[in-house]
Parts: sequence; C-alpha cells; structure tokens
Amino acid sequence: MSMEKSRVVIVGSKGRMGEALLRLAAQDPNLEIVAGVDRGDNVLDVIGRADVLIEFAHHSATDGLAKIAAEHGKALVIGTTGHTAEEREAIEAASRRIPIVCAPNFSIGVNLLFYLTRIAAGILGEEYDQEVVEMHHRKKLDAPSGTARRLGEILAESAGGDYDELARHGRQGEVGARPKKIIGMHALRGGDVVGDHTVHFAATGERIELTHRASSRDTFASGALRAAQWVRAQKPGLYSMQDVLGLKR
Ligand code: NAD
Repeated sequence: MSMEKSRVVIVGSKGRMGEALLRLAAQDPNLEIVAGVDRGDNVLDVIGRADVLIEFAHHSATDGLAKIAAEHGKALVIGTTGHTAEEREAIEAASRRIPIVCAPNFSIGVNLLFYLTRIAAGILGEEYDQEVVEMHHRKKLDAPSGTARRLGEILAESAGGDYDELARHGRQGEVGARPKKIIGMHALRGGDVVGDHTVHFAATGERIELTHRASSRDTFASGALRAAQWVRAQKPGLYSMQDVLGLKR
C-alpha cells in the first residue's frame, strides 16, 4: 500500500456523518482533508486536488457525483442510502471506470451481522419465518434503512428470490396468516437512536434473533475512512465493505 497520504473530499460535510468524518479524518495521519462540500458548493472547484471522494449526503446527489468522479478518474466511497433503481444503475455505470465502495453500513459489527445472517438463513431455511426490525433517530429521511434493506436482500438471496418481490413493509388491518417465504420489514423512528437492527428467525417452538446496535456514528465514519484508504489501490469496480474487510461469504 502507498505510504502517501490520501487526499479526501467529504460530500455532505455539514451533516451528522460529515461532522464525524471531518473530526476523525483530522486525527488520521494517512489522510488529508482537501475540502468539505455541502449544498450550494461545487465539487468541481476541489475535485482536482482529491484522490478520493466520500459521500454521505442525499441519494439524489449520488448519481451526479459518481459521473463527475468517473470523468475525473477519482475513487469514490458512497455511504448514502435510499437510492432508486435508476440511481443504483448510475453508480454501477460509473464503477466501470473508477473503483467505488458503496455500503449501506460501514461498521465492522454490521458487516459481521451481514455475514452471520447469510449463514443463519442458509442453515435454518424456509421453516423459519424471517423479519427484519430496525430503529433510527427521528430525523432519518428514508425507510427502511439501507442496512435493513441489505439484510432483506441477503435473506431473499438465500431463499433464491428477489427482495422487491418478497419484502412486506409493515402490517395493518386484516392481513391474514403469515405466508411462508415473505420477508417482514419494520422501521421504528424516534429520539436519537444511531441505528439498531435485528433479524428474527422464528419457527414452531423456537426463535433466534441476531442484533446489532450502534451507539456512535464514529463507527461508520472510521469504517468509511478505512474504505477510502483501501479503494484508491483497487481496479475499477463496485465493491462492498465486505470486500474492504475481507469478509466474503
Ligand atoms: P444529514 O441530513 O445529517 O446530512 C446530510 C448532509 O448532506 C446535509 O448537510 C445536507 O445539506 C447535505 N446534502 C444534501 N444534498 C446535498 C448535495 N446535493 N450536495 C452536497 N451536500 C448535500 O444526514 P446523515 O445522518 O449525515 O446521513 C447522510 C446519509 O448517510 C443518509 O443517506 C444516511 O442514511 C446515510 N448513512 C449511512 C451510513 C453508512 O454506514 N453507510 C451511516 C449513517 C448514515
């Protein structure tokens, strides 16, 4: 790995995650913050001085940023969640030209939860009803969380199905008995909760719950900074935090 400092631009620098990223990056001898960019700033003014862009802003900002990063040959770390199918395609298109790490959650614990969920789903199979419950602070804009969605995708993949077809978001009214194979998704909002996720596997006679609770955004920020160091040395492609951590299934 290069001993040179990585020059980083933080997009969404005035947000909750932006603040944590700027604070932790300032303490990291391997990183140099070139600039913070937020609403009203132009990334084109600073991109020339950067090696890597880190974005935790809004899903509508990501596709434009990915295009600019690809045009300038800069690596990109995307932490933003809630992308539409079109926005995901734009990220994928840019990743043919530059290395991109895109992760709904940069914490090591949650990436272990992804790994354990895949193993549990593979062992327990369809006899165990699967429900994902998440809770976040009252200001979170999207639901379910990107992390909950990823957990749902892992469960869907394990069942040989498609997340968008299998996911059921909440319940109300005469919903009838729970069908097999669906994936229940539930989003709680309140207070200042940084991020809780539980995957429930319930069968007749027993149930297993896998839970992760984040108590500080610093866990996401330090993971994203680690990804920023890692991504610089990669070939063009779309990578996950599992790749950064070497936690492949
Ligand atoms: P926030 O609302 O506190 O901050 C977002 C910031 O982005 C704001 O300062 C806003 O002005 C800025 N912004 C919005 N649109 C922009 C644009 N077009 N260009 C530049 N800046 C823009 O939100 P937050 O809690 O910091 O979360 C930001 C995103 O990161 C959300 O999508 C959230 O779900 C996600 N997130 C991901 C992880 C992870 O580990 N991947 C962890 C926490 C949050």
